[in-house]
Amino acid sequence: MLFAQKILNWFHYHGRKNLPWQKKNIYLIWISEIMLQQTQVNTVIPYFNKFKKKFPTMKSLIKAKINEILYLWSGLGYYQRAHNIYKTAIIIKKKYNGLFPKNINEIKKLPGIGQSTAGAILSFAYNFGYAILDSNIKRILIRFHSINIVNKKKRQLDILLWNLINKYLPIHHANKFNQSMMDIGSLICTNKNPKCSICPLNNTCNYSYNKPFDIKKKQKKKNKIGILFSIMQYKNSFFIKKQNSISIWKGLFYFPITPFLISINEWKKIIQKKKKKKNTNIIPFTHYVSNMKLYIITQLIKIKKKNKLNKKEKIWYNIFLNKKIGIPSPVKKIFIILKKKIKEKNMKKKNKRIIFCSFFKKNAEGLDYPFFTGTIGQKIYQEISKKAWTFWLKKQTKIINEKKLNMFIDKDREYLERKMKKFLFSKNN
Ligand code: SF4
Repeated sequence: MLFAQKILNWFHYHGRKNLPWQKKNIYLIWISEIMLQQTQVNTVIPYFNKFKKKFPTMKSLIKAKINEILYLWSGLGYYQRAHNIYKTAIIIKKKYNGLFPKNINEIKKLPGIGQSTAGAILSFAYNFGYAILDSNIKRILIRFHSINIVNKKKRQLDILLWNLINKYLPIHHANKFNQSMMDIGSLICTNKNPKCSICPLNNTCNYSYNKPFDIKKKQKKKNKIGILFSIMQYKNSFFIKKQNSISIWKGLFYFPITPFLISINEWKKIIQKKKKKKNTNIIPFTHYVSNMKLYIITQLIKIKKKNKLNKKEKIWYNIFLNKKIGIPSPVKKIFIILKKKIKEKNMKKKNKRIIFCSFFKKNAEGLDYPFFTGTIGQKIYQEISKKAWTFWLKKQTKIINEKKLNMFIDKDREYLERKMKKFLFSKNN
Protein backbone atom coordinates (compact mmCIF):
# COMPACT_ATOMS: atom_id res chain seq x y z
CA MET A 1 0.00 0.00 0.00
CA LEU A 2 1.21 3.50 -0.79
CA PHE A 3 2.46 5.80 1.95
CA ALA A 4 -0.42 8.27 1.47
CA GLN A 5 -3.04 5.51 1.43
CA LYS A 6 -1.82 4.16 4.78
CA ILE A 7 -1.94 7.64 6.27
CA LEU A 8 -5.47 8.30 4.96
CA ASN A 9 -6.74 4.92 6.13
CA TRP A 10 -5.39 5.56 9.59
CA PHE A 11 -7.07 8.98 9.62
CA HIS A 12 -10.40 7.41 8.70
CA TYR A 13 -10.40 5.32 11.89
CA HIS A 14 -8.23 7.22 14.37
CA GLY A 15 -7.58 10.81 13.21
CA ARG A 16 -8.70 13.82 15.20
CA LYS A 17 -11.87 15.09 13.52
CA ASN A 18 -13.49 17.17 16.22
CA LEU A 19 -10.95 19.84 17.04
CA PRO A 20 -12.69 23.18 17.65
CA TRP A 21 -11.05 24.85 14.65
CA GLN A 22 -11.95 22.11 12.14
CA LYS A 23 -14.85 24.09 10.70
CA LYS A 24 -13.60 25.16 7.25
CA ASN A 25 -13.40 28.75 8.43
CA ILE A 26 -10.14 30.26 7.23
CA TYR A 27 -10.11 32.93 9.93
CA LEU A 28 -10.42 30.44 12.79
CA ILE A 29 -7.99 28.04 11.11
CA TRP A 30 -5.42 30.82 10.85
CA ILE A 31 -5.82 31.67 14.58
CA SER A 32 -5.45 27.99 15.52
CA GLU A 33 -2.38 27.51 13.32
CA ILE A 34 -0.65 30.50 14.92
CA MET A 35 -1.55 29.19 18.40
CA LEU A 36 -0.31 25.72 17.50
CA GLN A 37 3.16 27.01 16.57
CA GLN A 38 5.42 25.60 19.33
CA THR A 39 2.41 24.61 21.45
CA GLN A 40 0.53 21.33 21.79
CA VAL A 41 -3.10 20.80 20.82
CA ASN A 42 -4.37 20.16 24.37
CA THR A 43 -2.80 23.38 25.65
CA VAL A 44 -4.17 25.39 22.74
CA ILE A 45 -7.83 24.26 22.93
CA PRO A 46 -8.95 26.37 25.96
CA TYR A 47 -7.09 29.44 24.66
CA PHE A 48 -8.59 28.99 21.20
CA ASN A 49 -12.12 28.68 22.62
CA LYS A 50 -11.69 31.84 24.69
CA PHE A 51 -10.30 33.68 21.67
CA LYS A 52 -13.13 32.50 19.43
CA LYS A 53 -15.73 33.61 21.96
CA LYS A 54 -14.29 37.12 22.14
CA PHE A 55 -13.39 37.47 18.45
CA PRO A 56 -15.61 35.08 16.49
CA THR A 57 -14.93 36.70 13.11
CA MET A 58 -12.26 38.59 11.22
CA LYS A 59 -14.54 41.62 11.42
CA SER A 60 -14.51 41.52 15.22
CA LEU A 61 -10.73 40.99 15.37
CA ILE A 62 -10.04 43.97 13.13
CA LYS A 63 -11.48 46.24 15.85
CA ALA A 64 -9.42 44.59 18.62
CA LYS A 65 -6.80 46.40 20.65
CA ILE A 66 -3.46 44.72 21.24
CA ASN A 67 -4.14 44.66 25.01
CA GLU A 68 -7.29 42.60 24.46
CA ILE A 69 -5.39 40.08 22.32
CA LEU A 70 -2.54 39.88 24.83
CA TYR A 71 -5.05 39.36 27.65
CA LEU A 72 -6.47 36.31 25.87
CA TRP A 73 -2.95 35.12 25.13
CA SER A 74 -1.73 35.45 28.74
CA GLY A 75 -0.19 32.15 29.83
CA LEU A 76 0.13 30.69 26.32
CA GLY A 77 3.63 32.13 25.90
CA TYR A 78 5.58 33.15 22.79
CA TYR A 79 3.80 36.48 22.79
CA GLN A 80 5.27 37.53 19.46
CA ARG A 81 2.51 35.35 17.97
CA ALA A 82 -0.16 37.60 19.55
CA HIS A 83 1.57 40.65 18.11
CA ASN A 84 1.65 38.92 14.71
CA ILE A 85 -2.10 38.32 14.87
CA TYR A 86 -2.67 41.98 15.69
CA LYS A 87 -0.39 43.14 12.84
CA THR A 88 -2.05 40.71 10.42
CA ALA A 89 -5.52 41.98 11.33
CA ILE A 90 -4.42 45.52 10.44
CA ILE A 91 -2.94 44.35 7.10
CA ILE A 92 -6.11 42.39 6.27
CA LYS A 93 -8.25 45.43 6.98
CA LYS A 94 -6.15 47.79 4.90
CA LYS A 95 -4.95 45.57 2.08
CA TYR A 96 -7.56 42.84 1.75
CA ASN A 97 -10.76 44.67 2.64
CA GLY A 98 -11.24 42.55 5.76
CA LEU A 99 -11.04 39.18 4.00
CA PHE A 100 -8.28 36.65 4.63
CA PRO A 101 -6.37 36.05 1.33
CA LYS A 102 -6.58 32.70 -0.44
CA ASN A 103 -3.34 32.91 -2.39
CA ILE A 104 -0.38 31.11 -0.79
CA ASN A 105 2.13 33.79 -1.81
CA GLU A 106 -0.03 36.51 -0.27
CA ILE A 107 -0.53 34.47 2.90
CA LYS A 108 3.22 33.89 3.26
CA LYS A 109 3.78 37.66 3.36
CA LEU A 110 1.68 37.96 6.54
CA PRO A 111 3.55 38.21 9.87
CA GLY A 112 4.54 34.88 11.46
CA ILE A 113 3.46 32.71 8.51
CA GLY A 114 5.91 30.50 6.61
CA GLN A 115 5.38 27.84 3.95
CA SER A 116 4.19 25.20 6.42
CA THR A 117 1.65 27.40 8.24
CA ALA A 118 0.38 28.77 4.92
CA GLY A 119 0.01 25.19 3.64
CA ALA A 120 -1.89 24.21 6.78
CA ILE A 121 -4.27 27.17 6.49
CA LEU A 122 -5.11 26.53 2.83
CA SER A 123 -5.34 22.76 3.03
CA PHE A 124 -7.58 22.84 6.13
CA ALA A 125 -9.76 25.71 4.91
CA TYR A 126 -10.18 24.77 1.22
CA ASN A 127 -8.52 21.37 0.83
CA PHE A 128 -5.94 22.97 -1.48
CA GLY A 129 -3.02 20.68 -2.29
CA TYR A 130 -0.34 22.06 0.02
CA ALA A 131 1.75 20.00 2.41
CA ILE A 132 2.77 20.79 5.99
CA LEU A 133 6.21 20.25 7.44
CA ASP A 134 6.16 20.85 11.17
CA SER A 135 8.59 19.27 13.63
CA ASN A 136 6.35 16.22 14.18
CA ILE A 137 6.12 15.49 10.46
CA LYS A 138 9.86 16.01 10.05
CA ARG A 139 10.46 13.41 12.73
CA ILE A 140 8.27 10.84 10.95
CA LEU A 141 10.08 11.37 7.64
CA ILE A 142 13.54 11.25 9.20
CA ARG A 143 12.75 8.02 11.00
CA PHE A 144 10.84 6.48 8.11
CA HIS A 145 13.75 7.04 5.73
CA SER A 146 16.40 6.60 8.37
CA ILE A 147 17.96 9.89 7.32
CA ASN A 148 21.26 10.60 8.96
CA ILE A 149 20.80 14.15 10.20
CA VAL A 150 24.09 14.45 12.02
CA ASN A 151 26.15 16.01 9.24
CA LYS A 152 23.34 17.75 7.38
CA LYS A 153 22.90 21.50 7.32
CA LYS A 154 19.41 22.71 8.30
CA ARG A 155 18.67 24.11 4.83
CA GLN A 156 19.86 20.94 3.13
CA LEU A 157 17.69 18.81 5.42
CA ASP A 158 14.66 21.06 4.92
CA ILE A 159 14.90 20.80 1.12
CA LEU A 160 15.14 17.03 1.34
CA LEU A 161 12.14 16.77 3.69
CA TRP A 162 10.00 19.18 1.63
CA ASN A 163 10.70 17.08 -1.45
CA LEU A 164 9.66 13.93 0.38
CA ILE A 165 6.45 15.30 1.86
CA ASN A 166 5.42 16.85 -1.47
CA LYS A 167 6.02 13.48 -3.09
CA TYR A 168 3.75 11.73 -0.54
CA LEU A 169 0.99 14.37 -0.55
CA PRO A 170 -2.01 12.83 -2.35
CA ILE A 171 -3.78 14.73 -5.14
CA HIS A 172 -7.04 14.56 -3.21
CA HIS A 173 -7.61 14.90 0.54
CA ALA A 174 -4.60 17.09 1.36
CA ASN A 175 -6.51 18.22 4.49
CA LYS A 176 -6.99 14.67 5.82
CA PHE A 177 -3.44 13.67 4.92
CA ASN A 178 -1.96 16.70 6.68
CA GLN A 179 -4.11 16.26 9.79
CA SER A 180 -3.26 12.55 9.89
CA MET A 181 0.48 13.21 9.63
CA MET A 182 0.25 15.75 12.43
CA ASP A 183 -1.74 13.34 14.60
CA ILE A 184 0.62 10.43 13.99
CA GLY A 185 3.59 12.68 14.75
CA SER A 186 2.20 13.90 18.03
CA LEU A 187 0.44 10.73 19.22
CA ILE A 188 2.41 7.78 17.79
CA CYS A 189 5.79 8.75 16.37
CA THR A 190 6.55 10.63 19.55
CA ASN A 191 9.91 12.17 20.37
CA LYS A 192 10.62 9.56 23.03
CA ASN A 193 9.54 5.93 22.72
CA PRO A 194 7.61 5.92 19.43
CA LYS A 195 4.67 3.50 19.48
CA CYS A 196 5.74 1.65 16.34
CA SER A 197 3.51 -1.35 17.02
CA ILE A 198 0.37 0.73 16.34
CA CYS A 199 1.82 2.93 13.58
CA PRO A 200 0.32 2.55 10.08
CA LEU A 201 3.81 2.91 8.58
CA ASN A 202 5.51 0.23 10.66
CA ASN A 203 5.93 -2.43 7.96
CA THR A 204 7.91 -0.13 5.69
CA CYS A 205 9.52 2.19 8.22
CA ASN A 206 13.30 1.90 8.44
CA TYR A 207 13.40 3.09 11.99
CA SER A 208 11.12 0.40 13.39
CA TYR A 209 13.07 -2.44 11.77
CA ASN A 210 16.66 -1.31 11.73
CA LYS A 211 16.68 1.25 14.52
CA PRO A 212 19.63 3.04 12.92
CA PHE A 213 19.80 5.87 15.37
CA ASP A 214 17.63 7.84 17.67
CA ILE A 215 16.85 11.40 16.82
CA LYS A 216 18.04 13.47 19.66
CA LYS A 217 17.24 17.11 19.39
CA LYS A 218 20.27 19.19 19.91
CA GLN A 219 19.30 20.65 23.26
CA LYS A 220 20.14 24.29 23.29
CA LYS A 221 21.51 25.34 26.63
CA LYS A 222 19.01 27.53 28.41
CA ASN A 223 20.30 30.90 29.48
CA LYS A 224 20.00 31.32 33.22
CA ILE A 225 18.72 34.72 34.24
CA GLY A 226 17.88 35.93 37.73
CA ILE A 227 14.95 38.31 38.01
CA LEU A 228 13.96 40.37 41.00
CA PHE A 229 10.35 41.56 40.86
CA SER A 230 9.80 44.66 42.99
CA ILE A 231 6.18 44.36 44.02
CA MET A 232 4.62 47.56 45.27
CA GLN A 233 1.37 46.97 47.09
CA TYR A 234 -1.30 49.46 47.99
CA LYS A 235 -4.15 47.62 49.72
CA ASN A 236 -5.42 45.17 47.07
CA SER A 237 -3.63 46.89 44.19
CA PHE A 238 -0.20 46.29 42.76
CA PHE A 239 1.91 48.53 40.59
CA ILE A 240 2.55 47.08 37.13
CA LYS A 241 3.77 48.68 33.96
CA LYS A 242 3.64 47.84 30.28
CA GLN A 243 6.84 46.70 28.66
CA ASN A 244 7.09 48.24 25.21
CA SER A 245 10.68 47.57 24.28
CA ILE A 246 11.67 44.35 22.56
CA SER A 247 11.55 41.61 25.16
CA ILE A 248 10.04 38.19 25.75
CA TRP A 249 7.03 39.90 27.32
CA LYS A 250 6.64 42.81 24.94
CA GLY A 251 3.27 44.50 25.36
CA LEU A 252 2.48 42.75 28.65
CA PHE A 253 2.12 44.32 32.08
CA TYR A 254 4.38 43.30 34.95
CA PHE A 255 6.24 44.51 38.04
CA PRO A 256 9.44 46.55 37.74
CA ILE A 257 12.26 44.06 37.32
CA THR A 258 15.95 43.96 38.09
CA PRO A 259 17.85 41.23 36.24
CA PHE A 260 20.88 39.71 37.97
CA LEU A 261 23.46 37.00 37.42
CA ILE A 262 22.65 33.72 39.10
CA SER A 263 24.49 30.48 39.78
CA ILE A 264 22.83 27.23 40.87
CA ASN A 265 24.64 27.25 44.23
CA GLU A 266 23.53 30.76 44.96
CA TRP A 267 19.97 29.83 44.00
CA LYS A 268 19.96 26.83 46.36
CA LYS A 269 21.05 29.09 49.19
CA ILE A 270 18.29 31.60 48.43
CA ILE A 271 15.66 28.83 48.45
CA GLN A 272 16.93 27.39 51.75
CA LYS A 273 16.92 30.77 53.44
CA LYS A 274 13.49 31.71 52.14
CA LYS A 275 11.95 28.40 53.18
CA LYS A 276 13.14 28.86 56.75
CA LYS A 277 11.21 32.10 57.04
CA LYS A 278 7.63 31.28 57.87
CA ASN A 279 6.35 34.66 56.82
CA THR A 280 7.64 34.43 53.25
CA ASN A 281 4.90 35.52 50.91
CA ILE A 282 6.31 34.15 47.69
CA ILE A 283 8.83 31.34 47.61
CA PRO A 284 11.41 31.90 44.83
CA PHE A 285 10.55 29.88 41.74
CA THR A 286 11.81 29.14 38.26
CA HIS A 287 10.03 29.65 34.96
CA TYR A 288 10.98 28.54 31.44
CA VAL A 289 10.44 30.94 28.60
CA SER A 290 11.77 30.37 25.05
CA ASN A 291 15.48 29.63 25.49
CA MET A 292 15.70 31.01 29.00
CA LYS A 293 15.31 29.69 32.49
CA LEU A 294 14.24 32.50 34.78
CA TYR A 295 15.09 32.38 38.48
CA ILE A 296 12.51 34.60 40.08
CA ILE A 297 12.66 36.26 43.47
CA THR A 298 10.36 38.94 44.79
CA GLN A 299 10.50 41.90 47.08
CA LEU A 300 7.19 43.10 48.48
CA ILE A 301 6.94 46.78 49.34
CA LYS A 302 3.73 47.96 50.96
CA ILE A 303 2.97 51.61 50.50
CA LYS A 304 0.44 53.86 52.18
CA LYS A 305 -0.30 56.32 49.44
CA LYS A 306 -0.42 55.65 45.75
CA ASN A 307 0.65 58.22 43.24
CA LYS A 308 -1.26 59.07 40.06
CA LEU A 309 -0.10 57.22 36.98
CA ASN A 310 -0.22 57.36 33.23
CA LYS A 311 -3.05 54.84 33.00
CA LYS A 312 -2.13 53.49 29.60
CA GLU A 313 1.36 52.37 30.51
CA LYS A 314 1.43 52.20 34.31
CA ILE A 315 -1.43 51.03 36.44
CA TRP A 316 -2.44 50.04 39.94
CA TYR A 317 -3.83 46.58 39.26
CA ASN A 318 -6.51 45.46 41.69
CA ILE A 319 -6.17 41.69 41.86
CA PHE A 320 -9.83 41.23 42.73
CA LEU A 321 -11.15 43.20 39.74
CA ASN A 322 -9.55 41.14 36.97
CA LYS A 323 -8.85 43.97 34.51
CA LYS A 324 -8.40 42.62 30.97
CA ILE A 325 -4.74 43.14 30.18
CA GLY A 326 -1.92 40.81 29.15
CA ILE A 327 0.10 39.47 32.08
CA PRO A 328 2.92 36.91 31.83
CA SER A 329 2.50 33.53 33.57
CA PRO A 330 4.93 34.09 36.48
CA VAL A 331 3.21 37.36 37.36
CA LYS A 332 -0.17 35.61 37.21
CA LYS A 333 1.22 32.98 39.57
CA ILE A 334 2.38 35.68 41.99
CA PHE A 335 -1.06 37.33 41.89
CA ILE A 336 -2.74 34.03 42.79
CA ILE A 337 -0.46 33.70 45.84
CA LEU A 338 -1.01 37.32 46.87
CA LYS A 339 -4.78 36.97 46.47
CA LYS A 340 -4.74 33.99 48.79
CA LYS A 341 -2.60 35.84 51.33
CA ILE A 342 -4.88 38.87 51.31
CA LYS A 343 -7.94 36.68 51.82
CA GLU A 344 -6.25 34.90 54.75
CA LYS A 345 -5.29 38.24 56.23
CA ASN A 346 -8.82 39.53 56.00
CA MET A 347 -10.04 36.44 57.82
CA LYS A 348 -7.52 37.05 60.60
CA LYS A 349 -8.59 40.68 60.95
CA LYS A 350 -11.68 39.43 62.70
CA ASN A 351 -9.47 38.25 65.57
CA LYS A 352 -7.31 41.29 66.32
CA ARG A 353 -4.51 40.83 68.83
CA ILE A 354 -4.03 43.86 71.06
CA ILE A 355 -0.60 44.33 72.66
CA PHE A 356 1.29 47.07 74.48
CA CYS A 357 3.48 48.53 71.70
CA SER A 358 6.96 49.57 72.91
CA PHE A 359 7.34 51.84 69.88
CA PHE A 360 4.24 53.99 70.50
CA LYS A 361 4.10 53.30 74.24
CA LYS A 362 0.41 52.44 74.06
CA ASN A 363 -1.95 49.55 73.28
CA ALA A 364 -2.30 48.73 69.59
CA GLU A 365 -3.02 45.85 67.23
CA GLY A 366 -0.15 43.34 67.16
CA LEU A 367 1.33 41.49 64.19
CA ASP A 368 -0.49 38.40 62.93
CA TYR A 369 2.54 36.17 63.29
CA PRO A 370 6.27 36.52 64.07
CA PHE A 371 8.09 37.76 60.99
CA PHE A 372 11.38 36.34 62.22
CA THR A 373 12.42 33.21 64.03
CA GLY A 374 14.44 33.42 67.25
CA THR A 375 14.38 35.83 70.17
CA ILE A 376 14.20 39.03 68.13
CA GLY A 377 11.27 37.66 66.14
CA GLN A 378 9.38 36.86 69.37
CA LYS A 379 10.20 40.25 70.87
CA ILE A 380 8.88 42.06 67.80
CA TYR A 381 5.77 39.90 67.78
CA GLN A 382 5.07 40.61 71.46
CA GLU A 383 6.01 44.29 71.61
CA ILE A 384 5.70 45.88 68.18
CA SER A 385 2.34 46.84 66.69
CA LYS A 386 1.38 46.49 63.06
CA LYS A 387 1.52 50.26 62.64
CA ALA A 388 5.04 50.49 64.08
CA TRP A 389 6.12 47.63 61.87
CA THR A 390 4.82 49.47 58.78
CA PHE A 391 6.89 52.48 59.87
CA TRP A 392 9.92 50.25 59.94
CA LEU A 393 9.24 48.73 56.51
CA LYS A 394 9.19 52.19 54.99
CA LYS A 395 12.40 53.10 56.78
CA GLN A 396 13.93 49.79 55.70
CA THR A 397 13.21 50.47 52.02
CA LYS A 398 14.86 53.86 52.36
CA ILE A 399 17.96 52.39 54.01
CA ILE A 400 18.25 49.61 51.41
CA ASN A 401 18.06 52.10 48.57
CA GLU A 402 20.35 54.70 50.11
CA LYS A 403 23.04 52.25 51.21
CA LYS A 404 22.50 50.01 48.17
CA LEU A 405 22.21 46.94 50.40
CA ASN A 406 22.05 43.46 48.94
CA MET A 407 19.80 41.22 50.99
CA PHE A 408 21.62 38.10 49.86
CA ILE A 409 24.83 39.27 51.54
CA ASP A 410 25.12 38.39 55.24
CA LYS A 411 27.00 41.59 56.16
CA ASP A 412 24.27 43.80 54.66
CA ARG A 413 21.51 41.85 56.35
CA GLU A 414 23.23 42.10 59.73
CA TYR A 415 23.62 45.86 59.23
CA LEU A 416 19.91 46.17 58.49
CA GLU A 417 19.01 44.08 61.54
CA ARG A 418 21.04 46.41 63.80
CA LYS A 419 19.23 49.38 62.29
CA MET A 420 15.88 47.67 62.81
CA LYS A 421 16.53 46.94 66.51
CA LYS A 422 17.68 50.50 67.07
CA PHE A 423 14.66 51.93 65.26
CA LEU A 424 12.03 49.76 66.92
CA PHE A 425 13.37 49.56 70.45
CA SER A 426 15.23 52.83 70.96
CA LYS A 427 13.98 54.59 74.08
CA ASN A 428 13.69 57.88 72.17
CA ASN A 429 10.68 56.74 70.21
S1 SF4 B 1 7.03 2.97 12.60
FE1 SF4 B 1 7.73 3.95 14.45
S2 SF4 B 1 9.44 5.24 13.86
FE2 SF4 B 1 8.38 4.64 11.98
S3 SF4 B 1 7.01 6.32 11.58
FE3 SF4 B 1 5.88 4.81 12.74
S4 SF4 B 1 6.12 5.39 14.91
FE4 SF4 B 1 7.64 6.51 13.69
